[in-house]
Amino acid sequence: MSRRYDFHCHSTASDGTLTPTELVQRAAGQGVELLALTDHDTLAGLEEARAAAQTAGIQLVNGIELSVVWQNRELHMVALGFDHQHEAITGLVDRQQQAREKRARIMGQRLDKAVPMTGAYDRAAALSGQSAPGRPWFARVLLEAGHVRSMDHAFNRFLKQGQSGFVRTPWVAMEDAVAAVAEAGGMSVIAHPVSYGLTRTKLRRLLADFVACGGDGLEVAVPGLHPNQQRLMAECLTDFPLSASGGSDFHSPAQTWLELGRVPELPADARPIWAALAA
Ligand code: MN
Ligand code: MN
Ligand code: MN
Repeated sequence: MSRRYDFHCHSTASDGTLTPTELVQRAAGQGVELLALTDHDTLAGLEEARAAAQTAGIQLVNGIELSVVWQNRELHMVALGFDHQHEAITGLVDRQQQAREKRARIMGQRLDKAVPMTGAYDRAAALSGQSAPGRPWFARVLLEAGHVRSMDHAFNRFLKQGQSGFVRTPWVAMEDAVAAVAEAGGMSVIAHPVSYGLTRTKLRRLLADFVACGGDGLEVAVPGLHPNQQRLMAECLTDFPLSASGGSDFHSPAQTWLELGRVPELPADARPIWAALAA
């Protein structure tokens, strides 16, 4: 019998709306026994989540969702079960934060020129209280300064890919992320593999590269897969030496179609990642 688990969710440490404590309590209330908190490019929620998990009597696995680059594409990788104090992972997280900040500064320069305006970066940083404000903060700056009619307008006119203010974040290369996670004693999993718009051929090329650089798992149990996508996931698990992971990608109770721990069954002959984590 398999245990109820969720290896992909977010708290207020990144873009979720529940604090790590609230998230753990909600997971426990849903019968989750094994939980990984996987905030975007930060370890900031893990200590609080660990304490809450002890109180709630559930098992917490260290986690993070890393943005990585593979063949000029931005992909997401979930890392699990690492030592969160190991310098291989803390150094990687520092570099990811620097990449976000570099991107924000360049975005500010581009907007100053394109809108035109002055101090877009400083305004977004002040509004967000962060040194690396993301696009929604720049959109708010544009809106509050009267340069656009709405947040959507800000994205469509300036911030989405192809527009003058769009800047790609210089995230870590996939193979470097996998190496850092392995050095910190963790396992790497390709997150939500069907969400990148890859053809079957391209997905298989990604998985071949991922396996070659030491990747461990594939997130196959995610909500809302079509039957043909489920078949593709099962095929990938058969053809590549990857363990199976899964998670809700829960961000907020407002996403009423998602719940912590509510993920489809793994394919029958899959090797669950928690078996590998325990080993
Ligand atoms: Mn997110
Ligand atoms: Mn993601
Ligand atoms: Mn996520």
